[in-house]
Amino acid sequence: MGKVSSLLSNQALYSMIMTLMVGVMLGLVVWSSRISSQRGIIEMPESHYDYIIVGGGTAGCVLAARLSANPYHSVLLVEAGEYFNWLSSVPLVTPMLQGSAHDWAYHTKSQVHSSWGLNNQSSACPRGRGLGGTGQMNYMLHYTGSEEDFSRWEDSGATGWGLRQLQPYVSKMLGTEYQCIAKQPYCLNSYQILLMSAAGLHTTSLHQKSQNNCKRVKAQPRMHISHVDVGNSVLGKAFIDAGNELAMAFKGLSFSTVQSTVYKGQRWSSLDGYLRPTLGQHNLKVLLNTRVTKVVFDNARVVQGVELRMSGDLSTKFVRSRKEVVLSAGAINTPHILLQSGVGPQAHLHKYGIPVVSDLNVGFNLHDHLNMPLYVSLETPVSVTINKVQQVHQFWDYMIHGKGLLASSGLVGVGTAETDLGLLLFGFGSTDEKIFRDIANYKQETFHALFPFSHNKTQEGFVLLASCLLPSSRGIVTLNDADPSNEPVIDPQYLQHPHDIACMIRAVKLAISLSSSQPFQHLGAKLHLPQLEECQHLEVDPQNQSYLECIIRTAAITGYHPGGTCKMGSPHDKTTVVDPQLRVRGLHGLRVMDASVMPTPVSGHPNSILIAMADRTADLILRH
Ligand SMILES: Cc1cc2nc3c(=O)[nH]c(=O)nc-3n(C[C@H](O)[C@H](O)[C@H](O)COP(=O)(O)OP(=O)(O)OC[C@H]3O[C@@H](n4cnc5c(N)ncnc54)[C@H](O)[C@@H]3O)c2cc1C
Repeated sequence: MGKVSSLLSNQALYSMIMTLMVGVMLGLVVWSSRISSQRGIIEMPESHYDYIIVGGGTAGCVLAARLSANPYHSVLLVEAGEYFNWLSSVPLVTPMLQGSAHDWAYHTKSQVHSSWGLNNQSSACPRGRGLGGTGQMNYMLHYTGSEEDFSRWEDSGATGWGLRQLQPYVSKMLGTEYQCIAKQPYCLNSYQILLMSAAGLHTTSLHQKSQNNCKRVKAQPRMHISHVDVGNSVLGKAFIDAGNELAMAFKGLSFSTVQSTVYKGQRWSSLDGYLRPTLGQHNLKVLLNTRVTKVVFDNARVVQGVELRMSGDLSTKFVRSRKEVVLSAGAINTPHILLQSGVGPQAHLHKYGIPVVSDLNVGFNLHDHLNMPLYVSLETPVSVTINKVQQVHQFWDYMIHGKGLLASSGLVGVGTAETDLGLLLFGFGSTDEKIFRDIANYKQETFHALFPFSHNKTQEGFVLLASCLLPSSRGIVTLNDADPSNEPVIDPQYLQHPHDIACMIRAVKLAISLSSSQPFQHLGAKLHLPQLEECQHLEVDPQNQSYLECIIRTAAITGYHPGGTCKMGSPHDKTTVVDPQLRVRGLHGLRVMDASVMPTPVSGHPNSILIAMADRTADLILRH
């Protein structure tokens, strides 16, 4: 026994045993998920379905689940990718999905006003490819929008998309509605009451009666949300305290620790919350590894169905839709499919010899957030470092308890100020250079100037991401050629509008103030303003506007939120592509529901908003 314990105390052997056990457990996880993942998946489509949903991403998963809730509707969900591998459920390794087979791995056209420190002046534009879509590879931040975000939409002609109309779906997502368990008349759940109020019905008396007749139980949430606990996070506490300190200097300042769509240490996407529970229903079929190349119309511009190509098969198949086709292929691929189908600007389609079905502003109005990273080193051991992550007990804690560093994305704090400034605190002191440089497409020298300690695996610190939440620049998605399997051209025209650079400079100043606040100074914080080659003619000084403008134009990277390319709004507005019911203008039987319909950016992270929007869209379709 003594011999065994002395052997076990040997660090190398202990590590080996732990690694072996972790390996066996991972094998079991993969094996069991393989078995359960085959429900509802088909190899070959039938000739027709009532509804065809193109794209099983954030929005598509919700739509497929909702439309198939009626057993008399047949629904086909077509997804270009397959299931993501198990790594996608481990929050900390999220960045590793970028550039993998689960990423469309797009890059933008060379930018003029931004991206000077990126290879080819081109920004990466990752998009999830597989069931769950980009929601299966994102950083899991949960945000449901501000009232002003939705008022802006309504004011621009997207009637019916105010906060009041979306709120019931947010409540449903979070399980904050109550359900009736007493079977008595007038017992409505809060979701139903909110829906009635959204429809303009007087609900006070209904609410009263309902309360008397219901035993209130909290509904099951569709999406699980976890919080960074201030009590357990030194960085989180410093972030909140710094917010309090800065409240006098910045108007409308609101700082909190992050909320993430994580459940028991695992990513929780719309695939988990909406689609997965419905898989296996007789009327819902999912076709993986299949790319929709075109929507087909008859002469009266009524949708007939879609053309698709299955992986490994060069032939094109046609599947008919009896009721509607809904495009949910995301802000880049949805306009791409429409353009290939002859729906888009006439002159552009003529250029590629594509017959015009409808002359619409498809691809315009592309908007995205930009993030300017600023590295802050610390003298206190409170951040995530490569050395800490590589400790075997971290794997063990994660596999057994769903806890530890692997259970979090590393994001700690999220702040806003002056309605349009955004700040994120990413609690990484040291990072893997290869992964982080590649995902941003940084030139080596840009990366080293931004992250001077990237070679040091034990370096403590964090990254502040400063952002303009309501940018005015608008870009465009266009065709490269008439071949649907080739990538579209993505030109976000970042920082083209003068408003955006002024706004980004204010956001960077907020980040600089945060790093020099008392709570962070107590942790030994030191901000490292980058000395970038492109800006070497300028004095490195946080007060120097020209220097700040230069570093932003050189090193700011995508916030990963492209949207707006099939703008929703009034059917009489020539710049819109879909009406407020999300029907493509002038066509019949075709809707769009994904980030491309968002008329203007939201002041934060769009994923949970898209889930609520997709849920509401299902009601619009079913009511139709
Ligand atoms: C790295 C990263 C981090 C992010 N972090 C956050 C965050 O923390 N919080 C947040 O709120 N948002 C975040 N986002 C943004 C958010 O995830 C997206 O806005 C959202 O997922 C978009 O949803 P969607 O339904 O519009 O499209 P997607 O989820 O992209 O779904 C589109 C689906 O359609 C499929 N598809 C595309 N073309 C075809 C075709 N021709 N045929 C068949 N299928 C097709 C795709 O494979 C994909 O599955 C992040 C994004 C990225 C890339």
